[in-house]
Amino acid sequence: MEKLTNRSRVVSDKKMTFLEKIYLPAIVKGMIITLKHFFSKKATINYPEQKREFSKVYRGQHVLKRDDLGRERCTACGLCAVACPAEAITMIAAERKPGEENLYREEKYAAVYEINMLRCIYCGDCEDACPKEAIFLTDRIVASQYHREPFVYGKDILVEPLDPEKRIDVSARQTESVRNFKLNKRFAHNK
Ligand code: SF4
Ligand code: SF4
Repeated sequence: MEKLTNRSRVVSDKKMTFLEKIYLPAIVKGMIITLKHFFSKKATINYPEQKREFSKVYRGQHVLKRDDLGRERCTACGLCAVACPAEAITMIAAERKPGEENLYREEKYAAVYEINMLRCIYCGDCEDACPKEAIFLTDRIVASQYHREPFVYGKDILVEPLDPEKRIDVSARQTESVRNFKLNKRFAHNK
């Protein structure tokens, strides 16, 4: 019969030699390969005693940023939630009341803001979508847990601390032109 393809192979039915039958050469060959690995450079490290250096733009745990005056930047516009391919973000918006100007930068703020870290794929789309530079991914690793519930992070975890010493530095994630733009207080965006 004519072959349809040239992919067929003739399988050898050659008889095994004595050495092949006792498997000794194959075992010795395997041992030599194993021994070689004892003296070669290890690909693994002793985590957590040793830690690898992360890229400055590593995409890990999110932070909700405050402005220079300590006010929450997020205005609960929902663009991050719409951009999120994993539907990991949910929020409830609220109106800022008179006297709360020192807490929230905009007239609307997120009373509830949650990210499900088990759904998140750390793509950074929320960061790109945010018009208020309120959400950033950082080089912090999301802590492991025994249960699913603690992976839903609320504002208590996401919003950065008020203490200027404990703020989360995200300057490495921004280009120089963006950093320079933010220093210019003439623009309403930076006030
Ligand atoms: S990093 Fe990506 S998947 Fe995670 S919350 Fe942001 S947009 Fe959603
Ligand atoms: S984090 Fe940014 S994009 Fe998301 S709701 Fe707040 S202001 Fe809007």
